[in-house]
Amino acid sequence: MPQLKQTDQTASFQVTATAGDARAGTLTINGQSLDTPTFFPVLSFYGGGTKSSVFGGGVHRTIKEFMLGKEVIGGGTYDEYFRGTMTSVASLTDYGINRERFDDYVSDKIKERETFSGYNGLIFVDSGGYKFLHNDGLDGSDFEIEIDQREAFRIQKQLGGDIIVNLDRPIAPSDTFDERQQKAERTAENAVEFARLTQTYPGARYLTVHGYNYSMLDRFFDHVQSQFGNIDISTLFDGIALGSLVPKKDDKAVLITAVMDCVEIMEERGLADLPLHVLGIGSGSIPLLVAAGADTFDSTTYLQNAINEKYAVSLTEHIPLDAVDFTQCDCAVCSDPMLVSWMQGNTEYQKDVLGPVAMHNLIIHRQEVQELRQRIKQHGTDPLIDYLDETVGRRDPIRKQTHRVVNQSLGGYF
Ligand SMILES: [Zn+2]
Repeated sequence: MPQLKQTDQTASFQVTATAGDARAGTLTINGQSLDTPTFFPVLSFYGGGTKSSVFGGGVHRTIKEFMLGKEVIGGGTYDEYFRGTMTSVASLTDYGINRERFDDYVSDKIKERETFSGYNGLIFVDSGGYKFLHNDGLDGSDFEIEIDQREAFRIQKQLGGDIIVNLDRPIAPSDTFDERQQKAERTAENAVEFARLTQTYPGARYLTVHGYNYSMLDRFFDHVQSQFGNIDISTLFDGIALGSLVPKKDDKAVLITAVMDCVEIMEERGLADLPLHVLGIGSGSIPLLVAAGADTFDSTTYLQNAINEKYAVSLTEHIPLDAVDFTQCDCAVCSDPMLVSWMQGNTEYQKDVLGPVAMHNLIIHRQEVQELRQRIKQHGTDPLIDYLDETVGRRDPIRKQTHRVVNQSLGGYF
C-alpha cells in the first residue's frame, strides 16, 4: 500500500451540541459553513433544454429559478434554502442526451457557468453508482460511457463538487450473501483508488458504506479496512455516506436500524468525529434518523411530492394541492400573491403550478430540520423527545419506531 495523503484542511466538522445520539454541528468546506443536521435538496442542474440552455426539465427548471432569484418567479431571495445542494453524475443523463451535450455539460464547473454564476452554495456530487450500475450503462441515451472510479471522479471534478464520494456498488434487498460480499469488495477497491485520485482535491471526500444492519455494515467496513491495510481511514475521509437505503425508504424500522448500527460501528472504528450522510432519504424519516445520529440528508421528495400535487404541511404530512388554504402558510412562496395564483392553476404551464409547490415543500422541509437543530441545542433530550412525540409519534404506524428511537438513542423517557 503506497502512502496516501491525509485529507487537507478543506473540510471540517464540529459537533456543537448533543442530545443522546443526536448531534448538532457545523460542517465547513472550502470556507463555507452549514449548520447540521441539514437537508440537501436534490437538483438536476442540467437535463433537457437546448444546448444554449442548461435549464429545461419542467419543475426542475422552476426550482432553479427560485434558487437564483429570477425575475420570472417574482424575484425574491430563496438562496438560504440552497446553501447545500445534491446532484448526481447520473442526473446528467436523466433526459437522454447525446455525447456532444454530455461533453458540453462537463466542460465547465457548475458554478463557473454563466447561468449559475450567482450560485455559491455547496454542491454534493454523488457518484451515480446506483444508476450506472443498476442499468449497466447510461440509460436513455444514444451513447455509452464506461463509468469506472476514474471516470466518475473526472465528472465530479468537472462539475466542481464540494463534497464527492467514491463510486459505489449499492446492494439490493434481493442480493445473496455472496453478491453483497462481491459488491462490498468492489466498492472497497474503488474507495482506495478514489483516495489516491483525490489526494489534492479541494473539497470534502466521503466514503460510501452499505448495509441494513450491524453485521452487514461491520463486514462492509472490514472489506474497506482490508483494502487500506493499516492506514487509519479516518485520516483519509471527511465523512461517511450511508447508501442502499432508497429501496427501503418506506420501512422506517430498517432505516432506523441501519443508522443506529452505522453510528455504533463508526464509534467502534474511530470514525465518530466524521459527519454521517444518509443518501436518498428525506421527509418523514428525518426526525427519527436525526435522533439516531444522522447529520445530513438528501432526497428528491420535495420535488416528487410537488409533481404528485402534494403540498407539505410538515415533514410527515402532505395534503392534495386542490385542498390547500394558502393563508395558513407564511413562507415566502405562499406570501406571494402571484405564486399563490399560479399554485391555484392560473398559469399557462404546469411547471409554474408545481414549481412553487416544490419550493414551498422545500421550505417546510428546511424549517423542520432547523427546528430539530434547535431542539438538540436545548438542554437535555426532553425538547427533542417532545418534538418526536408531537410529530412522528402521533402517527400510528410510526409510533412504535418513535418509542424505539427514544429508548435506544435518546436514553429513554425516564
Ligand atoms: Zn408555504
